[in-house]
Amino acid sequence: VGSTKNRRKHIKNSFLLGSSIALGTSSCDEPKTDLKARTNKKLKTHKWKMVTTWPKNFPGLGTGANKLAKYIEDLSDGRISLKVYGASELVPALGVFDAVQRGSVQIGHGASYYWQGRHPATSFFASVPFGLNAHEMNAWIYYGGGQELWHKLYKPFGLLSFPAGNTGVQMGGWFNKKINEPRDFKGLKVRMPGLGGRVLSKLGATVVTLSGGDIFQALKTKNIDGSEWVGPYNDLAIGLHKAAKYYYTPGWHEPGTCLEALINKKAFNELDDHLKSCVELACKAANQDMMSEFTLKNSLALSEVVKNKEVEILRFSDSVLSVLKETSNSVVKDISEHDEISKEIYDSFKNFKEACMDWDKASEHSFSLARQVKSAK
Ligand code: CA
Repeated sequence: VGSTKNRRKHIKNSFLLGSSIALGTSSCDEPKTDLKARTNKKLKTHKWKMVTTWPKNFPGLGTGANKLAKYIEDLSDGRISLKVYGASELVPALGVFDAVQRGSVQIGHGASYYWQGRHPATSFFASVPFGLNAHEMNAWIYYGGGQELWHKLYKPFGLLSFPAGNTGVQMGGWFNKKINEPRDFKGLKVRMPGLGGRVLSKLGATVVTLSGGDIFQALKTKNIDGSEWVGPYNDLAIGLHKAAKYYYTPGWHEPGTCLEALINKKAFNELDDHLKSCVELACKAANQDMMSEFTLKNSLALSEVVKNKEVEILRFSDSVLSVLKETSNSVVKDISEHDEISKEIYDSFKNFKEACMDWDKASEHSFSLARQVKSAK
């Protein structure tokens, strides 16, 4: 009995060790040796610093960066340890790209359109006006050739990037004056960064740059007539519902903003294959997690806005949207003329978008309308 018991125990242990010696085969000596070598080898560990374009622990965005760091540490069993820095703790918000490129830090969390000054085509990997919504962005990047183009764009900078969060479609912004016609933008002073701002300035608005922390005061004191920020979750967090009366939808300028994990390529290449996988999978998890959080918290915050009698939620009219779209298309097309890689990215993005639009109409859009059909009773 004892010897049968011992043999069973031996078989069990052999299975756990990945060996089939106990089954009488000898062809698996090699994996056993490999495993032994791996377990005996002291595995290399890495200390990374993460800089971010967000204030430390900023709801959704800063906390999203913290989660990404935790996922990397957990998946790698602590072999990559990370210290996260909020904007200005180590480098200013807009210094993230340079810091990661220099290699003084290994990773950054932000949005690629902040680096338009380094290369205009970076915008395609965050959001462009009238571009892709969140799940279409993921589809383009993961399956539609977007990731390869992103790597190609960042290669000369010694960087690589993965999606690591998404805010979903943003809101069109808070205004103190109604926008009924495209000409109503003329003469307005509006805070809208990036390509959306370029569109509004073509329509005659004066576009100003203000950081998130300065919007409330400027809007409240009527120093500006309107501002976009993110969506209800983040907008209420900085009090914009107490600064302007009209809340416009949709965020035509940011239909599904993808956030990035920007990584120094040399630091990434120092990781073994397992750790590289850990980083990539952690980014995917962070990407999904942020989208889920924004969906819930935007929904809860919007219901607060709906109850607020001081605020009116309005949709830009089709005549306004039509001019915004036409102007946006020409602003986005301008980027394609910058250089060869910009043209390649623009073509890939545009073809993907055109292919998506019929499916969106038949699926999400059609279902969304169906869900709002009034009950017969
Ligand atoms: Ca925004």
